[in-house]
This record gives sequence, C-alpha cells and structure tokens, in this order.
Amino acid sequence: MKLSNSFVKTLRDAPKDETAKSAQFLIRAGFVHKELAGVYDFLPLGLRTLKKIEQIIREEMNKLGASEVQMSALQNPRLWEKTERWSNQKVDIWFKTALSAGGELGLAPTHEEPITEMMKTYIKSYKDLPVSVYQFQTKFRNELRAKSGIMRTREFLMKDLYSFSPDEETHNQFYHKVEQAYKTIYERVGLGDCTYQTFASGGIFSKFSHEFQTLIPVGEDTVYYNADKSIVLNEEVVLPEVLDELGIKKEELKSEQAAEVGNIFTLKYKYSEPLDLKFNDSEGEQKTVFMGCYGIGVSRVMGVIAEKFADDKGLVWPESVAPYKYYLAPIGEQANKIAAELEAAHPEDILLDDRNNRPGEKFADAELMGIPYRVVISDKTLAENKAEIKNRKSGETKLLTLDELKGILK
Ligand code: ATP
Ligand code: MG
Repeated sequence: MKLSNSFVKTLRDAPKDETAKSAQFLIRAGFVHKELAGVYDFLPLGLRTLKKIEQIIREEMNKLGASEVQMSALQNPRLWEKTERWSNQKVDIWFKTALSAGGELGLAPTHEEPITEMMKTYIKSYKDLPVSVYQFQTKFRNELRAKSGIMRTREFLMKDLYSFSPDEETHNQFYHKVEQAYKTIYERVGLGDCTYQTFASGGIFSKFSHEFQTLIPVGEDTVYYNADKSIVLNEEVVLPEVLDELGIKKEELKSEQAAEVGNIFTLKYKYSEPLDLKFNDSEGEQKTVFMGCYGIGVSRVMGVIAEKFADDKGLVWPESVAPYKYYLAPIGEQANKIAAELEAAHPEDILLDDRNNRPGEKFADAELMGIPYRVVISDKTLAENKAEIKNRKSGETKLLTLDELKGILK
C-alpha cells in the first residue's frame, strides 16, 4: 500500500488520559481512534492487525470443525429472564435500550442465551449432535472502569464458540481439542511464551473452568504459578483444598499480574435446561443437550500484544499480526522508481512511504508503527545495487542485493 494516497495518519501526541503504553502508541501510530472512555474506532492499520488475529483464530476454529455464524447484538429480555441474567442486580454490565413501540432490548454482553434458543430450531435428534458454532461479534459491556486502552473496553470484538454435545464424554473430547486449539492460537499470534492455561473458579461441572492468561504487568488479574510443575492458578482458587488436590504448597507459587485473553467453560445444562434445549436419543428418549462455551477477546489480544512488545520508540508487532511486513522507505529519484515497482508487485506485504517527508520522519513512523522490517533504498545503497533492511525487534541491520530482496519478498 502507498502511504501517499491512504488514510494512515500518525500523531505527535496521545490523549493525556491514556495511561497504558499500548494505547498511547496505538493512537499515535494511527491504529485506533478514541471516541470515549472504553470506546475505540479501528483505523486502517489497526483493522488489518485485528483482522489478522481474527483470521488466525478462524483457521483454528475451522480445524475443530466448528461453523461460523454471526448473531445479532440485540437481545430479547424474555430469554435472559429464563436464565435469571436479565436483572441488573445479577448482571451489572448490561447496556439496555428502549424499543420505540414499548418494551426493552439488551445489547449482547455474550451469547449463551440466544444461541441456545436458536439451536432449538435445529437440534431435534441425536443425529444433529455434536455440533459447534462460533462467531466474531461485537459485545457490549457497561464496565465500571474502562482502562488500559483496548484491553478493557465497553464495546469489543469477541470470538465466542459454543458446543452442543449429546453427553459428557463427547463434550470432554471436544473441550480437550479446544484447549489445544487455544494453545496454537496464542503461539501463532506471538504470545505463546507468556500465555498460560490457568485453573479458574466458576466451573459448574468440573469445579474449575480454564482461563488463558498472559503474564503482563498491566494485567488486571493476579495469577499464582509454579514454572517447574506448570501449574498456574487464578487468585480466587488459591485455597487449601485446591492446593491439596493439585499437590502443591502456597510457598511454591509465585504471584504475577496477568491479562485474561480467553477462557473455556463446561456449561453442562446451565443454559440448555432453563431454555429447554432437548434432543431424542437413539432409543427415542428425550435428553438435555450438554453445552460448552469458549471465548477469546480478539481486540484485547491485540492490546496485549501491543503492550507486551512495545519499546520506547513504539509498537513491535510479531510478523503474523503486523499490518504489513515491510516498511519501504525510498530516498531519491531512482529509489522511488524501484520502490514503486516492488510495492505494485507486493501490495499486501509492503507499506510504501512515498510521502515527501524527511528520511528521519519516515524512520520514526516506521518504528512507531512497529512494522517488522524497514527497507531503505537510497542512491547510496543503489551505488552497490543494494537495499538496507532493519529488523524492528532486534535493531539488526543488513545490506541485501536487490535480487536478494526480491527473493525474500516472493
Ligand atoms: P474480565 O474478567 O477481564 O472482565 P470476563 O471473565 O468478564 O473477563 P468473558 O465473559 O469470559 O470475560 O469474555 C471472554 C473474553 O472476552 C475474555 O477472556 C476477555 O479476553 C474478553 N473480554 C472480556 N471483557 C472485556 C472487555 N471489557 N474488553 C475487552 N475484552 C474483554
Ligand atoms: Mg468481565
């Protein structure tokens, strides 16, 4: 893409009230725009990164055999009354809105109720099971405190997957596959080394649910972990009986701040029972569907990656989620011509800085945006028929011949 004719704008300053490093850089580098506390717009570069994270998750969901849908954000109060989740006392993050014809609707904070209701139309017999369905969908939550930029917002993108099984055993097999898929996802987006599957409370069936927590100082959760035993516990489950069961002592655990980037949950009959999602088994007997739900905060993951890897100059994206892989900065007449040809051949990988700026400004923007490789072609490098390539993460610089550069781009 050419910077000269695109809507990509970097800013000198970030809003004063934005404290997280990731939020300051995401705004200054032109990835997001802040509308209100906890309400952000995704700009061209930010949208590309968000979509790359989304695509990685989609590929892993499809490998599980799950089918993608997109459900409505507008919620019918009747369903949520049946599960006792409509009242503001029970669920304190609702955004509710009035219908002009009278009555109320909610803006979905999650989708267990509507998807359970929807599946009643399609699940009738054991032959319809197991089935799993996922979506990338905007959730609304009236969070008391929006903070840490796009890591905690009032409107955010979630991937939510729901599984419907005929029995516990079938469910457990799928649940285990999801655990593996989540590990792969965090590895692919660059968070593999610092993300752990933790034991969390709220497991209805198995006592625990599982969360995926990325160790990061701005994280809002405290986790306790023992690297040797690969045990990570959320704060709320560090209780004598739990420690006994896991065969570990409190002194063997170290505490650290972490951000929840996903969770997986055995729901059992929590929603299928009150919403009456049943099927006929092979003997013709009516049974209740066994459910699971599995979330990933897609936009939070983007914020966590930004926060985790940023340095004092700006963002540092892992290649897999960078909006572009190369920032191409030509200097001089002949370099401009060569750069334009390279960009035309690889528009998805190259962000061509063809603006009429000083080289220093181009280099500062390349660093601020966190594009993995900066390629400079100038009269000086061209004298040797070469280009200079700089690794954003390591700072390492190399000279490549133009043929070598073309080879890499292929
Ligand atoms: P938290 O404890 O951080 O509020 P949660 O337990 O309420 O999270 P879930 O309801 O399980 O979160 O939602 C699934 C995923 O959505 C979470 O793992 C997290 O990554 C993401 N998420 C939750 N709330 C927010 C938010 N306000 N902004 C951005 N992402 C969020
Ligand atoms: Mg929450």
